[in-house]
Amino acid sequence: MRRITVCLLIYGLLLAVLFRIMPAGGLPFAVLVFLAGSIAVGLIEYRADIAGLKAGLDSRIEEIDGEKKKLTGEIKGSDDYISELRNKEAVIVSLYEITRSMSRELTFNEIFKALSDFLKENFIFRKSSLIILKEEGEALKVGKVYKVFKEDWDKEEDKELNYYDIVRAFSHGKKEIYMTRGDGSTFGAIPLLSENKFVGILTIDNLSKADFDRFLIVAMQFALEMKKVLLYETVEALAITDSLTGLYTRRYFFERFDEELKRSKSHDFKFSFLMIDIDDFKKCNDTYGHLVGDVVLKEISHIVKESTREIDLTARYGGEEFSLILPETDKAGAMLVAGRIRKKIEENIFKAYDEKLKMTVSIGLAVYPDDSQELSDLIERADKALYAAKSSGKNIVCEYKG
Ligand code: GH3
Ligand code: MG
Ligand code: MG
Repeated sequence: MRRITVCLLIYGLLLAVLFRIMPAGGLPFAVLVFLAGSIAVGLIEYRADIAGLKAGLDSRIEEIDGEKKKLTGEIKGSDDYISELRNKEAVIVSLYEITRSMSRELTFNEIFKALSDFLKENFIFRKSSLIILKEEGEALKVGKVYKVFKEDWDKEEDKELNYYDIVRAFSHGKKEIYMTRGDGSTFGAIPLLSENKFVGILTIDNLSKADFDRFLIVAMQFALEMKKVLLYETVEALAITDSLTGLYTRRYFFERFDEELKRSKSHDFKFSFLMIDIDDFKKCNDTYGHLVGDVVLKEISHIVKESTREIDLTARYGGEEFSLILPETDKAGAMLVAGRIRKKIEENIFKAYDEKLKMTVSIGLAVYPDDSQELSDLIERADKALYAAKSSGKNIVCEYKG
């Protein structure tokens, strides 16, 4: 604006000069020149102002653009963060759910069922398996294997799978394995550790790498559940096992006897009950001492156990008495088993603390439902038969005779 003022002054001066030197009629011309000059100066000034304003606006727009970009970046970043949080939340919620459903269960079968349901609902895969490992001396053996299939496929194929190969894959390190096979399918295996002990393996077929990372978290939780089941199994085994002989306790025997009675009643099965008592055991203790007596007890327990089937139930009924339930076995079958046990013991040479000795047992037999349909009666009748065996000179099997 200062420039306009200067211009006005110059033109005012020019006008005054022209007014003085010009003849009449020169005035309008001078005014015209003055106006044209003023407009030209004003226009130049205006253009300069507009250019300045535009430059200012341009840099502001640039600034705003920068801020917008920054904000868009931040929004995208927070979107990613939110979706990451959502994923984490989903994992935590599902972990909570699986933990809750597994924590109610106390057997491998039950916790694997909970895991299977969870996997089917949350993952895309073909099949998954749980391999339970058992220690046998130094060696690791494959125990039970549980499987779950997500899609229908030829389950026969699975029979050819060698689980020992999977166990062997972990012989050098207990780190998870994830690999893609030649045909593009994938295989993942996760070692399950409990107190640094290698107790099992979880395998999964055709699971994406991203899902495998999620599966790892589930497997860690599963390992904890497995530890609980192992502990429960140990405590349960301790509670029902006699510490000296390794046979079932008398209390557990009564529980199972009752179950077997009900089962046989409902299926119309026979079963046999044997009472085994060591002959002259007191004399053995008196002659060789209690430690030798303990070794004899253990050895006789072992002989009885190995002479029977997996489904038979052998318990330590009292001090040197054993009870034996033979499911689905009639009198003739039971006489054969009892005769075999008696003979094996009679022929065995017991070696304990530099002593070598011979022992015999007497056996009484009662059969359900032939001799009785009641638990207490069956025990009493087997006991009577045992008494008869003792009375007739020991080292003999006697059946109950009413
Ligand atoms: P019988 O031929 O009539 O059966 O005579 P027995 O001497 O075997 O029978 P008895 O009932 O008189 O003696 C049983 C003995 O078993 C008495 C007891 O000290 C012994 N006994 C019971 N439990 C144990 C044990 O855990 N270890 C040892 N060493 N002896 C035991
Ligand atoms: Mg006795
Ligand atoms: Mg005895």
